[in-house]
Amino acid sequence: MRFFKEVMNTMVRKLKVLFVSSECGPYARTGGLGDVASSLPDALSKDENISIRRVMPLYRSVKGNLKYKTDFSVPMGDGYQNCIIKCERQIKKVPTYFIGNDWYFNRNDLYGYFDDGERFLYFCKAVVEMISFIGFRPDIIHCNDWHTAFIPLLAKMRHKSIKTMYTIHNLVYTGFIPANYLSEYEISKENLEMLGFPDNLNFIKAGLAFSDHITTVSKGYAAEILTPQYGAGLDNLTNMRKNSISGILNGIDTDMYNPESAIVPFNMDSIDKKAENKALLRKELNLMDSDLPVVSAVTRLDEQKGIGIIINALRKTDLENFQFVLLGTGNMYYENTFSEMASMYLGRMAFIPKFNPTLASRIYAGSDILIMPSKFEPGGLSQLYAMAYGTVPVVRNTGGLKDTVIDEKDDFENANGFCFDSYTVSAFLKALNRAIAAYKTPRWQKLMKNGMALDKSWKNSAAEYAALYRNLAGQRKPIQQEEPCHNQESCPEQK
Ligand code: ADP
Repeated sequence: MRFFKEVMNTMVRKLKVLFVSSECGPYARTGGLGDVASSLPDALSKDENISIRRVMPLYRSVKGNLKYKTDFSVPMGDGYQNCIIKCERQIKKVPTYFIGNDWYFNRNDLYGYFDDGERFLYFCKAVVEMISFIGFRPDIIHCNDWHTAFIPLLAKMRHKSIKTMYTIHNLVYTGFIPANYLSEYEISKENLEMLGFPDNLNFIKAGLAFSDHITTVSKGYAAEILTPQYGAGLDNLTNMRKNSISGILNGIDTDMYNPESAIVPFNMDSIDKKAENKALLRKELNLMDSDLPVVSAVTRLDEQKGIGIIINALRKTDLENFQFVLLGTGNMYYENTFSEMASMYLGRMAFIPKFNPTLASRIYAGSDILIMPSKFEPGGLSQLYAMAYGTVPVVRNTGGLKDTVIDEKDDFENANGFCFDSYTVSAFLKALNRAIAAYKTPRWQKLMKNGMALDKSWKNSAAEYAALYRNLAGQRKPIQQEEPCHNQESCPEQK
Protein backbone atom coordinates (compact mmCIF):
# COMPACT_ATOMS: atom_id res chain seq x y z
CA MET A 1 0.00 0.00 0.00
CA ARG A 2 2.82 2.38 0.99
CA PHE A 3 4.66 1.53 -2.21
CA PHE A 4 1.50 2.24 -4.23
CA LYS A 5 1.07 5.61 -2.53
CA GLU A 6 4.68 6.53 -3.20
CA VAL A 7 4.33 5.63 -6.85
CA MET A 8 1.15 7.69 -7.11
CA ASN A 9 2.86 10.63 -5.43
CA THR A 10 5.75 10.64 -7.81
CA MET A 11 3.53 10.23 -10.84
CA VAL A 12 2.49 13.73 -11.69
CA ARG A 13 -0.22 13.65 -14.31
CA LYS A 14 0.72 15.39 -17.53
CA LEU A 15 -0.83 18.81 -17.31
CA LYS A 16 -2.88 19.80 -20.30
CA VAL A 17 -2.64 23.42 -21.33
CA LEU A 18 -4.53 25.23 -24.07
CA PHE A 19 -2.64 28.38 -25.07
CA VAL A 20 -4.98 30.94 -26.64
CA SER A 21 -3.89 34.02 -28.55
CA SER A 22 -5.13 36.23 -31.36
CA GLU A 23 -1.86 35.85 -33.27
CA CYS A 24 1.06 33.46 -33.45
CA GLY A 25 4.14 33.35 -35.63
CA PRO A 26 4.76 32.10 -38.24
CA TYR A 27 1.04 31.83 -39.09
CA ALA A 28 0.05 35.46 -38.47
CA ARG A 29 1.74 38.09 -36.35
CA THR A 30 1.90 41.85 -35.97
CA GLY A 31 4.23 42.21 -32.98
CA GLY A 32 5.62 40.72 -29.79
CA LEU A 33 2.46 38.79 -28.87
CA GLY A 34 2.87 36.67 -32.01
CA ASP A 35 6.50 35.93 -31.11
CA VAL A 36 5.61 34.86 -27.57
CA ALA A 37 2.65 32.74 -28.72
CA SER A 38 5.08 30.90 -30.95
CA SER A 39 8.13 30.52 -28.72
CA LEU A 40 6.64 30.08 -25.22
CA PRO A 41 4.49 27.00 -26.03
CA ASP A 42 7.46 25.56 -27.93
CA ALA A 43 9.58 25.98 -24.80
CA LEU A 44 6.85 24.57 -22.53
CA SER A 45 6.45 21.54 -24.78
CA LYS A 46 9.96 20.49 -23.75
CA ASP A 47 8.64 19.91 -20.20
CA GLU A 48 7.74 16.22 -20.21
CA ASN A 49 4.96 16.83 -17.69
CA ILE A 50 3.14 19.31 -19.88
CA SER A 51 1.02 18.65 -22.94
CA ILE A 52 0.35 21.97 -24.62
CA ARG A 53 -1.71 23.00 -27.64
CA ARG A 54 -2.46 26.35 -29.18
CA VAL A 55 -5.54 27.92 -30.65
CA MET A 56 -5.84 31.07 -32.77
CA PRO A 57 -8.18 32.51 -35.42
CA LEU A 58 -7.96 31.24 -38.99
CA TYR A 59 -7.12 34.52 -40.72
CA ARG A 60 -7.01 34.83 -44.50
CA SER A 61 -3.21 35.09 -44.36
CA VAL A 62 -2.65 31.82 -42.48
CA LYS A 63 -0.71 29.32 -44.58
CA GLY A 64 -0.07 25.75 -43.53
CA ASN A 65 -0.96 22.15 -43.96
CA LEU A 66 -4.31 22.42 -42.21
CA LYS A 67 -6.72 19.58 -41.67
CA TYR A 68 -10.46 19.73 -40.93
CA LYS A 69 -11.16 18.60 -37.39
CA THR A 70 -14.74 19.42 -36.45
CA ASP A 71 -17.43 22.06 -36.65
CA PHE A 72 -20.20 23.40 -34.44
CA SER A 73 -22.34 26.50 -33.89
CA VAL A 74 -21.62 29.41 -31.59
CA PRO A 75 -24.45 31.60 -30.25
CA MET A 76 -23.87 35.23 -31.25
CA GLY A 77 -26.45 37.96 -30.66
CA ASP A 78 -29.88 36.72 -31.75
CA GLY A 79 -28.54 33.87 -33.86
CA TYR A 80 -25.63 31.52 -34.38
CA GLN A 81 -22.33 31.66 -36.21
CA ASN A 82 -20.67 28.53 -37.52
CA CYS A 83 -17.20 27.50 -36.41
CA ILE A 84 -14.91 25.19 -38.33
CA ILE A 85 -11.93 23.91 -36.37
CA LYS A 86 -8.86 23.05 -38.39
CA CYS A 87 -5.55 21.89 -37.03
CA GLU A 88 -1.93 21.88 -38.10
CA ARG A 89 -0.74 18.41 -38.97
CA GLN A 90 3.01 18.64 -38.45
CA ILE A 91 3.67 16.24 -35.63
CA LYS A 92 6.89 17.72 -34.31
CA LYS A 93 5.36 21.09 -33.63
CA VAL A 94 3.04 22.10 -30.81
CA PRO A 95 -0.41 21.16 -32.21
CA THR A 96 -2.27 24.28 -33.23
CA TYR A 97 -6.02 24.64 -33.70
CA PHE A 98 -7.52 27.33 -35.90
CA ILE A 99 -10.95 28.83 -35.34
CA GLY A 100 -12.47 29.28 -38.79
CA ASN A 101 -15.31 31.64 -39.58
CA ASP A 102 -15.12 33.52 -42.87
CA TRP A 103 -17.41 36.35 -41.75
CA TYR A 104 -15.13 37.29 -38.86
CA PHE A 105 -11.64 36.25 -39.93
CA ASN A 106 -11.39 35.98 -43.71
CA ARG A 107 -10.23 39.59 -44.01
CA ASN A 108 -7.08 41.40 -45.17
CA ASP A 109 -5.83 42.38 -41.72
CA LEU A 110 -5.83 40.83 -38.28
CA TYR A 111 -7.23 43.83 -36.45
CA GLY A 112 -8.55 47.32 -36.93
CA TYR A 113 -12.18 46.65 -37.88
CA PHE A 114 -15.31 48.36 -36.51
CA ASP A 115 -16.53 45.00 -35.19
CA ASP A 116 -13.30 43.80 -33.50
CA GLY A 117 -15.19 43.48 -30.20
CA GLU A 118 -17.73 41.14 -31.79
CA ARG A 119 -15.05 39.22 -33.72
CA PHE A 120 -13.05 38.43 -30.61
CA LEU A 121 -16.06 37.74 -28.40
CA TYR A 122 -16.91 35.11 -31.03
CA PHE A 123 -13.33 33.83 -30.76
CA CYS A 124 -13.63 33.55 -26.96
CA LYS A 125 -16.96 31.73 -27.18
CA ALA A 126 -15.70 29.39 -29.90
CA VAL A 127 -12.61 28.46 -27.85
CA VAL A 128 -14.72 27.66 -24.80
CA GLU A 129 -17.15 25.68 -26.96
CA MET A 130 -14.50 23.70 -28.86
CA ILE A 131 -13.24 22.05 -25.67
CA SER A 132 -16.27 19.76 -25.81
CA PHE A 133 -15.42 18.64 -29.36
CA ILE A 134 -11.69 18.13 -29.77
CA GLY A 135 -10.76 15.31 -27.40
CA PHE A 136 -8.35 17.52 -25.46
CA ARG A 137 -9.75 18.82 -22.20
CA PRO A 138 -7.22 21.24 -20.74
CA ASP A 139 -6.50 21.66 -17.04
CA ILE A 140 -5.44 25.22 -17.77
CA ILE A 141 -6.52 27.68 -20.42
CA HIS A 142 -3.76 30.24 -20.83
CA CYS A 143 -5.29 33.42 -22.32
CA ASN A 144 -3.29 36.27 -23.79
CA ASP A 145 -4.30 39.91 -24.13
CA TRP A 146 -7.75 41.44 -24.57
CA HIS A 147 -8.85 39.32 -27.54
CA THR A 148 -9.05 36.30 -25.24
CA ALA A 149 -10.09 38.03 -22.04
CA PHE A 150 -13.71 36.85 -21.88
CA ILE A 151 -12.56 33.23 -21.78
CA PRO A 152 -11.93 33.15 -18.00
CA LEU A 153 -15.52 34.25 -17.35
CA LEU A 154 -17.11 32.00 -20.00
CA ALA A 155 -14.98 28.98 -19.05
CA LYS A 156 -16.06 29.33 -15.41
CA MET A 157 -19.65 28.90 -16.54
CA ARG A 158 -19.16 26.11 -19.08
CA HIS A 159 -16.26 24.06 -17.63
CA LYS A 160 -16.07 24.62 -13.89
CA SER A 161 -12.99 22.46 -13.24
CA ILE A 162 -10.76 24.22 -15.77
CA LYS A 163 -8.46 26.91 -14.40
CA THR A 164 -7.56 29.99 -16.36
CA MET A 165 -4.49 32.17 -16.56
CA TYR A 166 -4.57 35.59 -18.18
CA THR A 167 -1.36 37.17 -19.46
CA ILE A 168 -1.23 40.91 -20.06
CA HIS A 169 1.10 41.76 -22.93
CA ASN A 170 -0.24 45.29 -23.08
CA LEU A 171 -2.88 46.78 -20.82
CA VAL A 172 -3.62 49.76 -23.01
CA TYR A 173 -5.41 47.97 -25.84
CA THR A 174 -8.84 46.55 -25.15
CA GLY A 175 -12.10 45.72 -26.87
CA PHE A 176 -15.72 46.40 -25.95
CA ILE A 177 -18.99 44.58 -26.51
CA PRO A 178 -22.63 45.32 -25.59
CA ALA A 179 -23.89 43.16 -22.72
CA ASN A 180 -26.70 41.61 -24.80
CA TYR A 181 -24.07 39.61 -26.74
CA LEU A 182 -23.56 37.61 -23.55
CA SER A 183 -27.18 37.25 -22.49
CA GLU A 184 -27.17 33.45 -22.80
CA TYR A 185 -24.63 33.21 -20.01
CA GLU A 186 -26.88 34.87 -17.41
CA ILE A 187 -24.10 36.93 -15.91
CA SER A 188 -25.10 38.46 -12.58
CA LYS A 189 -25.90 42.16 -12.42
CA GLU A 190 -22.97 42.68 -10.06
CA ASN A 191 -20.54 41.07 -12.49
CA LEU A 192 -21.94 42.97 -15.44
CA GLU A 193 -21.45 46.22 -13.58
CA MET A 194 -17.88 45.25 -12.77
CA LEU A 195 -17.27 44.84 -16.52
CA GLY A 196 -18.67 48.27 -17.36
CA PHE A 197 -22.45 47.82 -17.71
CA PRO A 198 -24.59 49.85 -18.63
CA ASP A 199 -21.88 50.96 -21.06
CA ASN A 200 -20.24 48.37 -23.30
CA LEU A 201 -18.40 45.60 -21.45
CA ASN A 202 -14.61 45.87 -21.35
CA PHE A 203 -12.76 42.68 -22.33
CA ILE A 204 -9.70 43.29 -20.14
CA LYS A 205 -11.88 43.81 -17.08
CA ALA A 206 -13.23 40.29 -17.63
CA GLY A 207 -9.71 38.87 -17.84
CA LEU A 208 -8.55 40.70 -14.75
CA ALA A 209 -11.62 39.94 -12.68
CA PHE A 210 -12.28 36.29 -13.52
CA SER A 211 -8.98 34.59 -14.31
CA ASP A 212 -7.54 32.34 -11.61
CA HIS A 213 -4.12 33.88 -12.05
CA ILE A 214 -2.74 36.89 -13.90
CA THR A 215 0.71 37.28 -15.32
CA THR A 216 2.43 40.01 -17.23
CA VAL A 217 5.59 39.98 -19.24
CA SER A 218 8.10 41.53 -16.87
CA LYS A 219 8.42 42.18 -13.16
CA GLY A 220 8.78 45.89 -13.88
CA TYR A 221 5.45 46.06 -15.73
CA ALA A 222 3.77 43.92 -13.06
CA ALA A 223 4.58 46.70 -10.58
CA GLU A 224 3.78 49.52 -13.00
CA ILE A 225 0.24 48.36 -13.82
CA LEU A 226 -0.71 48.92 -10.19
CA THR A 227 -0.13 52.67 -10.63
CA PRO A 228 -2.45 55.27 -12.19
CA GLN A 229 0.35 56.27 -14.61
CA TYR A 230 0.58 52.84 -16.26
CA GLY A 231 -2.70 51.25 -15.14
CA ALA A 232 -4.69 52.41 -18.22
CA GLY A 233 -7.64 53.31 -15.99
CA LEU A 234 -7.73 49.74 -14.64
CA ASP A 235 -5.47 50.22 -11.64
CA ASN A 236 -8.41 49.72 -9.24
CA LEU A 237 -8.87 46.27 -10.66
CA THR A 238 -5.17 45.42 -10.88
CA ASN A 239 -4.81 46.43 -7.24
CA MET A 240 -7.77 44.25 -6.26
CA ARG A 241 -5.96 41.30 -7.88
CA LYS A 242 -2.42 42.28 -6.96
CA ASN A 243 -1.76 39.13 -4.92
CA SER A 244 -2.56 37.05 -7.99
CA ILE A 245 -0.29 38.90 -10.41
CA SER A 246 3.14 37.55 -11.39
CA GLY A 247 5.68 39.24 -13.64
CA ILE A 248 7.50 36.72 -15.85
CA LEU A 249 10.04 38.06 -18.29
CA ASN A 250 9.62 37.13 -21.94
CA GLY A 251 12.28 34.97 -23.49
CA ILE A 252 13.13 34.65 -27.18
CA ASP A 253 13.60 31.84 -29.65
CA THR A 254 17.39 31.72 -29.51
CA ASP A 255 17.59 29.40 -32.53
CA MET A 256 15.69 31.80 -34.71
CA TYR A 257 17.49 34.94 -33.52
CA ASN A 258 21.00 33.65 -33.68
CA PRO A 259 24.08 35.55 -34.94
CA GLU A 260 25.48 32.24 -36.18
CA SER A 261 22.70 32.32 -38.78
CA ALA A 262 23.34 35.93 -39.88
CA ILE A 263 24.33 36.50 -43.52
CA VAL A 264 27.93 36.60 -42.31
CA PRO A 265 27.75 34.29 -39.28
CA PHE A 266 29.43 35.44 -36.09
CA ASN A 267 29.54 34.80 -32.36
CA MET A 268 31.25 36.34 -29.34
CA ASP A 269 34.62 35.00 -30.43
CA SER A 270 34.29 36.32 -33.96
CA ILE A 271 32.46 39.52 -33.11
CA ASP A 272 34.49 41.51 -35.65
CA LYS A 273 32.48 39.79 -38.39
CA LYS A 274 29.46 41.82 -37.31
CA ALA A 275 31.00 44.68 -39.28
CA GLU A 276 30.56 42.66 -42.48
CA ASN A 277 26.84 42.40 -41.77
CA LYS A 278 26.79 46.17 -41.26
CA ALA A 279 28.47 46.72 -44.62
CA LEU A 280 25.89 44.48 -46.31
CA LEU A 281 23.04 46.29 -44.56
CA ARG A 282 24.38 49.66 -45.69
CA LYS A 283 24.57 48.39 -49.24
CA GLU A 284 21.06 46.95 -49.13
CA LEU A 285 19.58 50.19 -47.77
CA ASN A 286 21.71 52.62 -49.80
CA LEU A 287 23.53 54.10 -46.83
CA MET A 288 26.96 55.66 -47.34
CA ASP A 289 30.10 53.98 -46.06
CA SER A 290 31.08 55.82 -42.91
CA ASP A 291 32.79 55.63 -39.51
CA LEU A 292 29.55 56.68 -37.87
CA PRO A 293 27.52 54.06 -36.00
CA VAL A 294 24.32 52.67 -37.54
CA VAL A 295 21.44 53.34 -35.15
CA SER A 296 18.22 51.40 -35.78
CA ALA A 297 14.65 50.86 -34.64
CA VAL A 298 12.34 47.96 -35.57
CA THR A 299 8.96 48.93 -34.26
CA ARG A 300 5.29 49.63 -34.57
CA LEU A 301 4.90 53.33 -35.35
CA ASP A 302 2.80 54.08 -32.32
CA GLU A 303 3.06 56.76 -29.68
CA GLN A 304 3.81 54.06 -27.06
CA LYS A 305 7.14 53.43 -28.77
CA GLY A 306 8.38 57.01 -28.31
CA ILE A 307 8.11 57.76 -32.03
CA GLY A 308 7.57 61.48 -31.38
CA ILE A 309 10.81 61.52 -29.40
CA ILE A 310 12.65 59.83 -32.26
CA ILE A 311 11.36 62.35 -34.81
CA ASN A 312 12.37 65.32 -32.66
CA ALA A 313 15.76 63.79 -31.88
CA LEU A 314 16.46 63.29 -35.60
CA ARG A 315 15.52 66.92 -36.27
CA LYS A 316 17.66 68.18 -33.41
CA THR A 317 20.78 66.21 -34.29
CA ASP A 318 20.39 66.50 -38.07
CA LEU A 319 21.98 63.03 -38.13
CA GLU A 320 25.43 64.51 -37.74
CA ASN A 321 26.93 61.78 -35.62
CA PHE A 322 25.04 58.63 -36.64
CA GLN A 323 23.17 56.96 -39.49
CA PHE A 324 19.60 55.83 -38.94
CA VAL A 325 17.61 52.80 -40.10
CA LEU A 326 13.92 52.45 -39.30
CA LEU A 327 11.74 49.44 -40.13
CA GLY A 328 8.17 50.04 -39.07
CA THR A 329 4.54 50.49 -39.96
CA GLY A 330 1.59 52.07 -38.22
CA ASN A 331 0.35 55.60 -37.76
CA MET A 332 0.17 57.30 -41.19
CA TYR A 333 1.35 60.66 -39.87
CA TYR A 334 4.52 59.01 -38.59
CA GLU A 335 4.99 57.04 -41.83
CA ASN A 336 4.72 60.23 -43.91
CA THR A 337 7.06 62.16 -41.62
CA PHE A 338 9.74 59.47 -41.77
CA SER A 339 9.38 59.14 -45.55
CA GLU A 340 10.00 62.88 -45.90
CA MET A 341 12.98 62.71 -43.56
CA ALA A 342 14.50 59.75 -45.41
CA SER A 343 14.39 61.68 -48.69
CA MET A 344 15.95 64.67 -46.96
CA TYR A 345 18.76 62.58 -45.42
CA LEU A 346 19.60 60.51 -48.49
CA GLY A 347 22.45 58.09 -47.82
CA ARG A 348 22.26 58.73 -44.07
CA MET A 349 18.81 57.45 -43.23
CA ALA A 350 16.70 54.58 -44.50
CA PHE A 351 13.01 54.15 -43.74
CA ILE A 352 11.27 50.92 -44.72
CA PRO A 353 7.50 51.18 -44.11
CA LYS A 354 6.89 47.43 -44.18
CA PHE A 355 6.42 44.51 -41.82
CA ASN A 356 9.35 42.31 -42.81
CA PRO A 357 10.73 39.80 -40.25
CA THR A 358 13.74 38.72 -42.34
CA LEU A 359 14.83 42.33 -42.91
CA ALA A 360 14.29 42.87 -39.17
CA SER A 361 16.85 40.14 -38.44
CA ARG A 362 19.33 41.71 -40.88
CA ILE A 363 18.88 45.07 -39.15
CA TYR A 364 19.41 43.53 -35.70
CA ALA A 365 22.56 41.85 -37.03
CA GLY A 366 23.92 44.81 -38.97
CA SER A 367 23.36 47.82 -36.73
CA ASP A 368 25.44 49.08 -33.83
CA ILE A 369 22.77 50.63 -31.61
CA LEU A 370 19.04 49.92 -31.28
CA ILE A 371 16.79 52.62 -29.82
CA MET A 372 13.60 52.08 -27.82
CA PRO A 373 12.59 55.35 -26.14
CA SER A 374 9.22 53.82 -25.17
CA LYS A 375 6.65 55.66 -23.11
CA PHE A 376 5.90 52.26 -21.60
CA GLU A 377 7.08 48.79 -22.56
CA PRO A 378 5.45 45.76 -20.93
CA GLY A 379 8.19 43.33 -21.99
CA GLY A 380 9.91 44.40 -25.14
CA LEU A 381 11.48 41.85 -27.46
CA SER A 382 13.38 44.09 -29.86
CA GLN A 383 16.02 44.94 -27.25
CA LEU A 384 16.53 41.19 -26.63
CA TYR A 385 16.88 40.42 -30.34
CA ALA A 386 19.30 43.33 -30.69
CA MET A 387 21.46 42.11 -27.80
CA ALA A 388 21.48 38.58 -29.25
CA TYR A 389 23.27 40.10 -32.26
CA GLY A 390 25.64 42.29 -30.24
CA THR A 391 23.67 45.46 -30.99
CA VAL A 392 23.69 47.77 -27.99
CA PRO A 393 20.26 49.06 -26.88
CA VAL A 394 19.47 52.62 -25.79
CA VAL A 395 16.19 52.43 -23.91
CA ARG A 396 13.91 54.27 -21.56
CA ASN A 397 13.90 52.82 -18.06
CA THR A 398 10.44 51.28 -18.08
CA GLY A 399 8.80 47.84 -17.83
CA GLY A 400 10.74 45.02 -19.43
CA LEU A 401 13.40 47.40 -20.77
CA LYS A 402 14.31 48.27 -17.20
CA ASP A 403 14.49 44.56 -16.34
CA THR A 404 16.83 43.60 -19.19
CA VAL A 405 19.07 46.55 -20.08
CA ILE A 406 21.87 47.41 -17.66
CA ASP A 407 23.43 50.86 -17.81
CA GLU A 408 27.07 51.33 -16.92
CA LYS A 409 26.02 53.97 -14.40
CA ASP A 410 24.35 51.16 -12.43
CA ASP A 411 26.70 48.26 -13.02
CA PHE A 412 29.86 49.02 -14.96
CA GLU A 413 31.05 45.43 -15.16
CA ASN A 414 27.80 43.92 -16.48
CA ALA A 415 26.54 46.89 -18.51
CA ASN A 416 24.94 45.97 -21.84
CA GLY A 417 23.24 49.22 -22.87
CA PHE A 418 22.23 52.77 -22.03
CA CYS A 419 19.12 53.87 -20.14
CA PHE A 420 17.34 57.13 -19.43
CA ASP A 421 14.45 57.99 -17.14
CA SER A 422 12.37 60.95 -18.19
CA TYR A 423 10.26 60.73 -21.32
CA THR A 424 11.88 63.71 -23.05
CA VAL A 425 13.93 64.30 -26.18
CA SER A 426 16.82 65.73 -24.16
CA ALA A 427 17.03 62.74 -21.77
CA PHE A 428 16.95 60.38 -24.76
CA LEU A 429 19.63 62.31 -26.63
CA LYS A 430 21.89 62.33 -23.58
CA ALA A 431 21.72 58.54 -23.44
CA LEU A 432 22.15 58.18 -27.20
CA ASN A 433 25.16 60.50 -27.17
CA ARG A 434 26.70 58.50 -24.32
CA ALA A 435 26.30 55.41 -26.51
CA ILE A 436 27.79 57.10 -29.57
CA ALA A 437 30.76 58.30 -27.50
CA ALA A 438 31.30 54.76 -26.12
CA TYR A 439 31.08 53.33 -29.65
CA LYS A 440 34.42 54.94 -30.46
CA THR A 441 36.18 53.36 -27.46
CA PRO A 442 37.60 49.86 -26.86
CA ARG A 443 34.93 49.42 -24.18
CA TRP A 444 32.26 48.96 -26.88
CA GLN A 445 33.13 45.30 -27.42
CA LYS A 446 32.52 44.58 -23.75
CA LEU A 447 29.04 46.14 -24.00
CA MET A 448 28.29 44.07 -27.09
CA LYS A 449 29.54 40.87 -25.49
CA ASN A 450 27.64 41.46 -22.24
CA GLY A 451 24.44 41.79 -24.28
CA MET A 452 25.19 38.63 -26.23
CA ALA A 453 25.97 36.73 -23.02
CA LEU A 454 22.71 37.69 -21.29
CA ASP A 455 20.45 34.65 -20.92
CA LYS A 456 17.50 35.45 -23.17
CA SER A 457 16.21 31.91 -23.53
CA TRP A 458 12.80 30.78 -22.29
CA LYS A 459 14.39 28.23 -19.94
CA ASN A 460 13.80 30.02 -16.63
CA SER A 461 10.64 31.84 -17.61
CA ALA A 462 8.98 28.74 -19.08
CA ALA A 463 9.76 26.95 -15.81
CA GLU A 464 8.02 29.78 -13.94
CA TYR A 465 4.92 29.39 -16.11
CA ALA A 466 5.00 25.63 -15.61
CA ALA A 467 5.20 26.06 -11.83
CA LEU A 468 2.21 28.42 -11.92
CA TYR A 469 0.22 25.96 -14.03
CA ARG A 470 0.96 23.21 -11.51
CA ASN A 471 -0.05 25.43 -8.63
CA LEU A 472 -3.31 26.32 -10.32
CA ALA A 473 -4.14 22.75 -11.21
CA GLY A 474 -3.26 21.53 -7.72
CA GLN A 475 0.01 19.69 -7.68
CA ARG A 476 0.53 15.97 -7.62
CA LYS A 477 -2.80 15.00 -9.04
CA PRO A 478 -3.15 11.26 -9.56
CA ILE A 479 -3.67 10.00 -13.09
CA GLN A 480 -7.26 10.61 -14.10
CA GLN A 481 -9.42 9.51 -16.94
CA GLU A 482 -10.23 11.97 -19.69
CA GLU A 483 -13.68 13.46 -19.47
CA PRO A 484 -15.70 12.26 -22.44
CA CYS A 485 -16.00 14.58 -25.41
CA HIS A 486 -18.56 14.69 -28.21
CA ASN A 487 -16.05 14.09 -30.96
CA GLN A 488 -13.90 11.05 -30.42
CA GLU A 489 -11.65 11.66 -33.41
CA SER A 490 -8.08 11.49 -32.19
CA CYS A 491 -6.04 14.66 -31.88
CA PRO A 492 -3.05 15.52 -34.07
CA GLU A 493 -0.55 14.77 -31.33
CA GLN A 494 -1.88 11.25 -30.82
CA LYS A 495 -1.56 10.21 -34.45
P1 ADP B 1 5.27 45.16 -29.39
O1 ADP B 1 4.82 43.77 -29.15
O2 ADP B 1 4.75 46.16 -28.42
O3 ADP B 1 5.06 45.60 -30.80
P2 ADP B 1 7.95 44.11 -28.89
O4 ADP B 1 9.30 44.75 -28.86
O5 ADP B 1 7.59 43.26 -27.73
O6 ADP B 1 6.86 45.22 -29.18
O7 ADP B 1 7.88 43.14 -30.16
C1 ADP B 1 7.91 43.65 -31.43
C2 ADP B 1 8.15 42.49 -32.36
O8 ADP B 1 7.66 42.83 -33.64
C3 ADP B 1 9.62 42.19 -32.57
O9 ADP B 1 9.73 40.83 -32.93
C4 ADP B 1 9.98 43.05 -33.76
O10 ADP B 1 11.12 42.55 -34.43
C5 ADP B 1 8.73 42.88 -34.57
N1 ADP B 1 8.46 43.99 -35.48
C6 ADP B 1 7.96 45.20 -35.19
N2 ADP B 1 7.82 45.93 -36.32
C7 ADP B 1 8.27 45.16 -37.32
C8 ADP B 1 8.40 45.34 -38.73
N3 ADP B 1 8.03 46.48 -39.32
N4 ADP B 1 8.90 44.33 -39.47
C9 ADP B 1 9.27 43.18 -38.87
N5 ADP B 1 9.18 42.93 -37.56
C10 ADP B 1 8.68 43.92 -36.79
